[in-house]
Amino acid sequence: MAKPRHLDEFQRIARFFAPLAGRGALRLEDDVALIDGPAGTDYVLSTDAIVEGVHFFAADPPGQIAQKLLRVNLSDLAAKGAAPVGYLLTAALTDADDETWLKRFSAGLALDQKRFGMVLLGGDTVRSNGAAILSLTALGKVAAGTALLRGTARAGDALYMSGTLGDAALGLKSLKGGLRTLTVRHRAHLVSRYRLPQPRLKLGRKLVGLASAAMDISDGLMADLGHLCAASGVGATVETARLPLSAAARAALRHNRSLLETILAGGDDYEILFTAPPSARKRLARLEVTEIGRIEAGGQVMVLDGDGAPIALRQGGYHHF
Ligand code: ADP
Ligand code: MG
Repeated sequence: MAKPRHLDEFQRIARFFAPLAGRGALRLEDDVALIDGPAGTDYVLSTDAIVEGVHFFAADPPGQIAQKLLRVNLSDLAAKGAAPVGYLLTAALTDADDETWLKRFSAGLALDQKRFGMVLLGGDTVRSNGAAILSLTALGKVAAGTALLRGTARAGDALYMSGTLGDAALGLKSLKGGLRTLTVRHRAHLVSRYRLPQPRLKLGRKLVGLASAAMDISDGLMADLGHLCAASGVGATVETARLPLSAAARAALRHNRSLLETILAGGDDYEILFTAPPSARKRLARLEVTEIGRIEAGGQVMVLDGDGAPIALRQGGYHHF
C-alpha cells in the first residue's frame, strides 16, 4: 500500500514559504535573515517557537524555559558573528501559567537579557486553549557584509565545532530515565547542557574574517552539517575520533558504544559548526574550537570511525514533522 504523503519540516518550508521570501531572507536556507541597518551595519533576525509538551513541559522551571527560548535564538545570532540588540516575545499562555509562573519566567528573561546585553522591544500576550506556545524573535547586528553564512564553504576547508558534542541529547536521554550507569555528577552535567544552552556569542564574533561558513548545531551534527553542505554545494568527512566529547559523554560511550549515534545525530547542542581555509588554522588554534573533519568536493557527507572506515547512520537528526 502506498504511504500517505507527508511533508517534513523542510519540505513545507521549501514548498509553501520559500516562494514568498524576499531580499535578505537568504532563500530561507540559513539561520537568519539579514536587513540593511544604519550606516555600515546589517541587522540579523532569528525567530524560534517552543510548544508545551513538545519542547518543554509544564513542570519545567519557568526561568529556565525563558532562558532556553532566548538562548536558542542567540545561538543563531552567534553562528552568524552577530551581536545581540533586542527581542520580541509572543506568549500564548494557559490558565495554568499563573502569576507565580510569570514572575519566574520574566525573572529568567531579566537575567539573560542583562547577561547577553539586549532589551525587550515588544511582543504579544494572548490566551491559548491548548498547550502554551512561546515565540521569540531576536534582533542582532553585524558589520555590513560580514555575517557568516551557511552557503559559502569550499572544498579544501577544514571543518570545526565549538564546545562539546552530544551532551544535550544524552541529557535528554537521562531525563527520560536512561543512562543509569553514569554518576550523578555526569548526569547533572548532561541535563544542564540540555536545559541551558550556552550561545557562543563571543566566539562567533571572533570567527568573522576567519570562518568561510558557519551555522549553529540545533538539529544534530549530521542534519546540520547536511544543511551546510547542501547550501554550499559541497560534501564533508567527519572523523569521529576527533569529536570533542565531555567527560560525561565519554563515560556514557564507554558503557554503551551505540550512543555514538545519539551523539552524532542528537539535537540541542547549540554549538557553532564552521569551516575555514587552511590559512586560518594558526589563528583558530587560540580559540576553543576543535577540528573535526574537512569539506570535500561532491555532495556526500561521510563519517569515519576510529580506523578511518565509513559508518552508516540511521537517524538524520531531529525533524519536526
Ligand atoms: P534554525 O534551526 O536555525 O532556527 P530552522 O531550521 O528552524 O532554522 O529554519 C530554517 C529556515 O527556514 C530559516 O531561515 C527560517 O527562518 C525559515 N523558516 C522556517 N519556518 C518558516 C516559516 N513558517 N515561514 C518562513 N520561514 C520559515
Ligand atoms: Mg540555526
